[in-house]
Amino acid sequence: MKRPARLVSCFFSLLVFFAAPLQAQKAKEDSAQTAEPFTIAVLADTQYYCDCRLKLSAKWGNGDLRRYFFEQTEWVRDNQKRHNIKFLVHEGDIVQADDPEEWAIAKEAMSVLDGTVPYCLCLGNHDMGFEKSNNKYGGNIGVNRSTHFNTYFPRAKFAKRREFGGTFDPDRHDNSWYHFEAAGMKFLIVALEYHPRDEVLDWANGIVAEHPDHRAIVLTHAYLKGNKTRTTNKLKLKGNNGEQMWQKFVRKHKNIFMVLCGHFSGEAVLTSAGDHGNPVHQILSDYQEMNNGGESWLRYMVFQPDASKISIHTYNPALDKFKNGSSSKFDLNYPMAVPLVPAPGLARPSDANALDKKQ
Ligand SMILES: [Zn+2]
Repeated sequence: MKRPARLVSCFFSLLVFFAAPLQAQKAKEDSAQTAEPFTIAVLADTQYYCDCRLKLSAKWGNGDLRRYFFEQTEWVRDNQKRHNIKFLVHEGDIVQADDPEEWAIAKEAMSVLDGTVPYCLCLGNHDMGFEKSNNKYGGNIGVNRSTHFNTYFPRAKFAKRREFGGTFDPDRHDNSWYHFEAAGMKFLIVALEYHPRDEVLDWANGIVAEHPDHRAIVLTHAYLKGNKTRTTNKLKLKGNNGEQMWQKFVRKHKNIFMVLCGHFSGEAVLTSAGDHGNPVHQILSDYQEMNNGGESWLRYMVFQPDASKISIHTYNPALDKFKNGSSSKFDLNYPMAVPLVPAPGLARPSDANALDKKQ
């Protein structure tokens, strides 16, 4: 009985001997790269900035508000270097009522980032399924999944980008995933439609499971409410609410650490433990009901790898102001010092001990 144990022990000594330089190199890469802070910018419901069809933004009496959309993307572009902005996400309700003229504004405003800051968007209820009606708004939104999004943000344009991962539908851009590297870590973002269908969640489960070495962020429009609970509402539209998304998808993956959403005016954070004990920060931000439809309020999240911390800032480039309340400016703990998966071929000391004991 002793002989095999010695052999195993010898084997691990050799493994450590040969693997040590590799491990040292890996550790060097990690420590050299993980110290650099970097930023992800977040835009929420820009619907009032693109409001040609229903003109609901008239309630503020300040006319066309599209300038605030441009204030946002121009600020992100102009501060890319200063904040080391690696990516921008849009939480949906990009436009007010899926009107081509509205999409043209959104396209122009988002294109400000082209060539400087990579970005992806998810669709909100206002981005799809418009039908005329005699109600006080002049129409209904979100009655089905038809949208002009794919004409103005076509898959073919984005598929050429280095960060593009793929889409659920080979011809559409509604459900997409993107990836990027920052501070020596790999990240992926999966952008899901409003109340995603089961088949979309199946696809998302596959994408996240196939990339265990990527730290994953879920981007979807309606998920968390201002009272820090996930949505539980049922829609006529076939799909899943926030709680169902958590149960069928988000909680299952060790590498998902964040969900970003809008839809409900306000700010909230809910941190839940996933099935693997990993903390998942679920974050709502939406400023659409503030003055002038949000007046360019946005968020940027500064990742500080050496402190294993993410600092959230809420900023208004048009007014050059910060929101400094506890729901607008806060830190989240997120471990970044340890690689998500050990280097291939290397057994951790604890694994070796476990094997030794079995012998
Ligand atoms: Zn919405």
